[in-house]
Amino acid sequence: MITVALSKGRILKQTLPLLKKIGISLVDDPYNSRKLIFSASRDDIQFVIIRATDVPTFVQFGAADLGVVGKDGLMEHGGEGLCELLDLRISQCRLMTAVPRRSENVPRTRKRLRVASKYVRLAQQYYQSQGMQAEVIKLYGAMELAPLVGLADEIVDLVETGNTLRANDLVEKDLIANISCRLIANAASMRTRHQQIAQLVDQLAEVVGSEQ
Ligand code: AMP
Repeated sequence: MITVALSKGRILKQTLPLLKKIGISLVDDPYNSRKLIFSASRDDIQFVIIRATDVPTFVQFGAADLGVVGKDGLMEHGGEGLCELLDLRISQCRLMTAVPRRSENVPRTRKRLRVASKYVRLAQQYYQSQGMQAEVIKLYGAMELAPLVGLADEIVDLVETGNTLRANDLVEKDLIANISCRLIANAASMRTRHQQIAQLVDQLAEVVGSEQ
């Protein structure tokens, strides 16, 4: 039996149609069930549906053999004990820094920028790579609010359409990374369940037209 960890929320909405294309569907409807473990139409595979930020951890420790997670979550986790197998090309967006429109063209003169993000590690790495000192304040949501109420000078967050930034009078500044969902595997499962995993990867690669 292979266990696959899926990220709930908007990633799940795009993952289920992909799985359907390779003939795998969940027995119960995840949107109308409080279950966490889901059987599938194939009895050698089961799914757990959890928060995106927990997917790399479940896979790292072997609680799931495979996982579907955004590159953002993967980078923030660090990728220890994980193999990135395939770009699923879903949930595409970009990880950006963003600032209030009024400070769009103001140089970053503060010695130590205050940055709000849920990606503490990624944000710290980014500002450090740019030779800037930043104090990253961890938030779990509504990042866009932080510069508006003086909690932070800028934010690091995902941007898809840009509507959320516009609605809050913020503008994109630096592109940190282009993001999409990745299929990841536990390093040990890659050896012990190689055949099953390779078959799934081949099927998914064909559907998404991704290079392996
Ligand atoms: P948008 O208004 O379309 O630019 O979307 C921005 C909001 O949606 C922000 O709150 C982001 O954190 C969130 N978001 C955008 N893309 C994604 C994604 N691929 N996965 C998860 N959250 C996202």
